[in-house]
This record gives sequence, structure tokens and C-alpha cells, in this order.
Amino acid sequence: MAFEGLSDKLSAAFKKLRSKGKLSEADVKEAMREVRLALLEADVNYKVAKDFVKSVTERAIGSDVLTSLTPAQQVIKIVNDELTTLMGAENSRINFSSKIPTIIMMCGLQGSGKTTHSAKLAKFFKKQGKRPLLVACDVYRPAAIDQLKVVGEKVGAPVFEMGQIDPVTIAKKAISHAKDYGHDIVILDTAGRLHIDEQLMGELKNIKSELKPNEILLVIDSMTGQDAVNVAKSFDEALGIDGVILTKLDGDTRGGAALSVRAVTGKPIKFVGMGEKLEDLEPFYPDRMASRILG
Ligand code: GDP
Repeated sequence: MAFEGLSDKLSAAFKKLRSKGKLSEADVKEAMREVRLALLEADVNYKVAKDFVKSVTERAIGSDVLTSLTPAQQVIKIVNDELTTLMGAENSRINFSSKIPTIIMMCGLQGSGKTTHSAKLAKFFKKQGKRPLLVACDVYRPAAIDQLKVVGEKVGAPVFEMGQIDPVTIAKKAISHAKDYGHDIVILDTAGRLHIDEQLMGELKNIKSELKPNEILLVIDSMTGQDAVNVAKSFDEALGIDGVILTKLDGDTRGGAALSVRAVTGKPIKFVGMGEKLEDLEPFYPDRMASRILG
């Protein structure tokens, strides 16, 4: 599970604070040095860690915290609040369209978990009584289309495909198919590549401008840490995204991407992938995640 190392290090730092009773500015600063190191070891972006510690320190020293009866407890509460803010303050929901169907465009690098998470989302929406349609727009690898069919079948969501033709044409046909057959959500599984390149971005921009999706979700692999954050920054700058699905959090012991992506890109994490099974998807709640980190 993510954040193990971070949780341990933070609780060690806070234990020292608690043992002191009354706190001085120097005590807080010392604890914050440890917090900063713990964040960096968890692979949190350097500037994010620095800014985080700065705001916690300012709040802790600048208020009545140090003269309160439970100063250590107050400092921990500030850390909890700031962690929540760092990850987005509240859960960000999907933008549903007032007109049917809502179009969700999934994008991401190959191997990030895009196809798996297209199906996980379909399952998630089905549980809410919706009728999602999965669309195979990853047309370069026939195996990708087959994979989407396999996972689509597992979650009981139909897959619309037209083989390896232009993805914009496929997506447009899929929308009319959805209207005809009463699918209220269309999930476009677009092509991924090993690296970000102009051709990939060109294709995604084209789909975006022609289809005007209600929601563009970028799928990133949390195990790749700051690389995932850089990928998110590049996709957001080139394409514009609405939110992130952070996958493989079950295997990420550090958690740096989860803690940095919102601060670096300004875009919220909307869901997290917690395993290979198709039910292993959770809406992301920053406050719950902060509590989980602080144990
Ligand atoms: P795509 O190339 O982006 O479409 O990636 P896939 O959906 O094919 O996923 C790549 C690999 O990651 C597959 O083996 C998935 O089973 C695995 N995977 C996807 N999501 C998760 C997750 O949340 N946790 C774990 N442990 N594995 C995942």
C-alpha cells in the first residue's frame, strides 16, 4: 500500500513533538525538516515539498498553536489540513453532460492502465444504474481492441469497434450508436504510446476538437512517481485534461505522484486504481487519503 514509508516517518517526527509538551519555534522547524525529508523520500516533487512545509510552518508559528494546551496535536492537524488541500481539498466529480450521452475521453501512455480503467469506470457507472458504452479508439494495435473486448465482457459493457480505421470516425459513429441504443455514457479508449510524441498529441487533439468530450481523464501509473507527474503536466499543457486516474496505487509504496500531481498540474485526481481486478477502482477523496497517511 502507498505511503507506508511516509506514514512511518511522519509518525516518528510527530512522536518527538508530542514528547515535548510545550513547543518552541525551533521544535516546529526541526519537525518540519523531518517532514520535508520524508516527503522527498516518498518521491514528492521538490518544490511541492518545500511549499508544503513552508505553509505548515507559517500556520503553526504564526497562530496561537504554540501557546495552546496541545501544541503537537495542533501541528498534526495543520499537516492533515494541508495534505488534504495539497491533494485537492475535496473529491472532484465527473462532469456529466445535460444531453445524452456524456462523453469521457480516456488518454495516457501505453501500460499506464488505460484500457483496464476504461472497463473499471464502465463497471463503476453500471453500479450507479447507468448504461456505458466502451469505444475502441486505440486503433494501432489489434491486441488493444481485443483487450478492450475482453474487459468489456467481464464488466458486462458493450464495446463499439470498427477495426483499425480513423478514431474520429469511430468515435462519431459510436456517439450515434449510443443515442440509438440508449447508452448514457460513452467511454473512448484512445491510443497510447510508449512516449509522448507529436503524432499522439495531434490525434488526441483532433478527437477532442471533433467530439468535444465532457471529461478528459488522463491515466497515469503511480509507480512511475515523478515521471507520472511530468506526463500529466505535458498532457495538460498540450491537450488540456479535466482530471487524473492514478493507477497501481496498490503497488506504489511511496506515493509521490499522488501527493504532487494536483499541485504541479492544477488538475485533480478523480479516481485511483487499487489493483488488477475490475472492481479495484475508488473515487479519490483527499481528506480520507490524508487521514490514511497520518495513520
Ligand atoms: P494500457 O496499455 O494503458 O491500456 O494498460 P492496461 O490497461 O493494459 O494495463 C497494463 C497492466 O497494468 C495490466 O497488466 C493491468 O492488469 C495492470 N494494471 C492496471 N491497473 C492496475 C492497478 O490499479 N493495479 C495493479 N496492480 N495493476 C494494474
